[in-house]
Amino acid sequence: MMELFNKKTEFIFKHNVDAKKQSNDLLFIFENNEVYIFRNNVPAINDLVKNNIQCDIDNLLCFGTINSQQCFCLKNNLPASNILLDKVLLKTSYSILSEASYQAAVLANHLSHWLMTHKYCGACKGDNNVCVNELALQCANCNLRIYPIISPCVIGLIYKGNEILLAQAKQSLNNIYGCISGFVNPGENLEAALAREVYEEVGLNIHNIKYVTSQHWPFPNSLMIGFTAEYLSGDINVDTVEISDAAWYDIDSPDKLPNLPSGISVSRHLINEFCTRYAK
Ligand SMILES: [Zn+2]
Repeated sequence: MMELFNKKTEFIFKHNVDAKKQSNDLLFIFENNEVYIFRNNVPAINDLVKNNIQCDIDNLLCFGTINSQQCFCLKNNLPASNILLDKVLLKTSYSILSEASYQAAVLANHLSHWLMTHKYCGACKGDNNVCVNELALQCANCNLRIYPIISPCVIGLIYKGNEILLAQAKQSLNNIYGCISGFVNPGENLEAALAREVYEEVGLNIHNIKYVTSQHWPFPNSLMIGFTAEYLSGDINVDTVEISDAAWYDIDSPDKLPNLPSGISVSRHLINEFCTRYAK
């Protein structure tokens, strides 16, 4: 299994609106949760030029570097007809791209989604421009400044002695069982959000909520905040809206665990950490 959880790579974030484009700089272009690739990597500007693929060079934003190559994403989406490259699902592209390219790609996806959905000012409909000194957009008409959207999402591994609660999301494609998660509501702190989500989705009360780790999860703009929490009371009662099944699993019988989430997810990280620490 690929372990990419929060791994450090050669990708370095740098906001640089005045970056001078070089022919070997990398282009991160997306369409419907897929990233365009050229010979198993993201294309360089030169790859597009050589293959007569049109690209509006003025429509690019530099967001970092991988070694000597600058990384660009599009400020506005390109029509699909302009692109003649292969595409792969961003969520599974870690098995094709280099670790640095994958890290850059997920950030580029987050930024591209934000730029694409904030072309105009929400207050006066004026044009938004990328700011020079910080990663923000500013309205040319009323000067309203907008920062990248980050949606906090709590995720928790619930345990009861040596058993862990694993749940299958209704939208799960491959019969995957993972941790309970959900978005934080305005007015909630993170612990309250997790307790509410767990009660809503599986009918359990929890306590001893402890922070473990966090992860950028740009599908399109989440920040996952991971916890462990101890079972307090209640019987499993799945909501059948977001969760289709949930059960307790004994961590001392690893062969009886269901299909777990991929190694790039915070869910899998929480499960692995708990099992490593407490299995007999
Ligand atoms: Zn405005």
